[in-house]
Amino acid sequence: DFSVRPEIQDFAPYVPGLTIEQIQERYGLNTVIKLASNENPLGTSPLVQKAIAKNAARAFRYPENHSPRLVKAIAQTAGVSEDCILVGNGSDEIIDMLFRMKGIPGKSNVVCYENSFAMYRMCAKLTDLEYREIPRDDDLELPLAAMAEAADENTAMVIVTSPDNPTGLAATVDDLSVLAGVLPKDCLLVVDEAYIEFAWPPESYSPVQAFDLFENLVALRTFSKAYGLAGLRVGYGILPPKLAALMKNARIPFTVNLLAEEAALAALEDEVFFNETLQLVMHGREYFTEELTRLGCKVWPSQSNFVMFEPPKPAQTVFKALLKKGIIVRPLGSFGLGTCIRVNVGTNAENTTFIKKLEDILNG
Ligand code: PMP
Repeated sequence: DFSVRPEIQDFAPYVPGLTIEQIQERYGLNTVIKLASNENPLGTSPLVQKAIAKNAARAFRYPENHSPRLVKAIAQTAGVSEDCILVGNGSDEIIDMLFRMKGIPGKSNVVCYENSFAMYRMCAKLTDLEYREIPRDDDLELPLAAMAEAADENTAMVIVTSPDNPTGLAATVDDLSVLAGVLPKDCLLVVDEAYIEFAWPPESYSPVQAFDLFENLVALRTFSKAYGLAGLRVGYGILPPKLAALMKNARIPFTVNLLAEEAALAALEDEVFFNETLQLVMHGREYFTEELTRLGCKVWPSQSNFVMFEPPKPAQTVFKALLKKGIIVRPLGSFGLGTCIRVNVGTNAENTTFIKKLEDILNG
């Protein structure tokens, strides 16, 4: 028996998605396709692989704290000033820092909505912040007006995932401006933009292009999806400069490792890989939307690299049948959406195989 903080006693272990190797072994399959974790369908960029190999011999050195070279490159790409940028070990680290540094334990609250990314609830519990989860309607529209109403003088932040995981729905810049305009002073509007590169056209969806017009906007972005670096763990926040400076002082040093920084710099350089990823994703989500609709599924319109659907048979049955045929998708029971499945765009060949096997299952 170990005594830990009471909040820690009843945490359930994090259950990561199934791996290709697990399914190969379980069903004796040679080929398994994984479309479950929203990873990049093109794999790792060749320029990134070269950068990692080139810098491997420097791994005995500490990285530069706060990754200043990467900050400069991100600021140029995002069109904001360097003092707004905070780089982290995945955007998960920035989320964790925001909860620990902005909220006052036992006093502050955080406003979010149902069926969203599990990290927010987990961080709220860990930091003893009240988690206000706004209900959603049947179509799972982002309940921005109700979120504004739920915020009060103790609200540390309001979190909107846009494009949303797992629905793929996105809030427009206009919607987000209205929300930002009515929030209490000192309450952050945190827009988790993990999938923003796939929203099209980007200027309709990301408030970062008008960053100077917002006083309390925080945008969270990641290299895990469009840039294909999920395994290296690099993400960043775009924050009001004063907040970024305060958070830098209180953060753990060196969380972004030296090879991850080099890889992220190379990923920003590799415009060919980035553009090919976008092309593939846009085409793939359109294909999924048409085909899933043809197969009788309810499909949510996606601005992301995945599509959420409700099959005409029970989602767990469909998920298990797909696994046996060597396709890993994501059933959404853990998001509170037990009748739905999320599938991310793969290569064109993977997408066609998925649809064909799903069709066999639904017609079987
Ligand atoms: N936010 C959302 C909405 C996500 O889906 C994810 C990845 N699953 C993250 C943040 C975390 O991304 P990262 O890999 O940068 O930690």
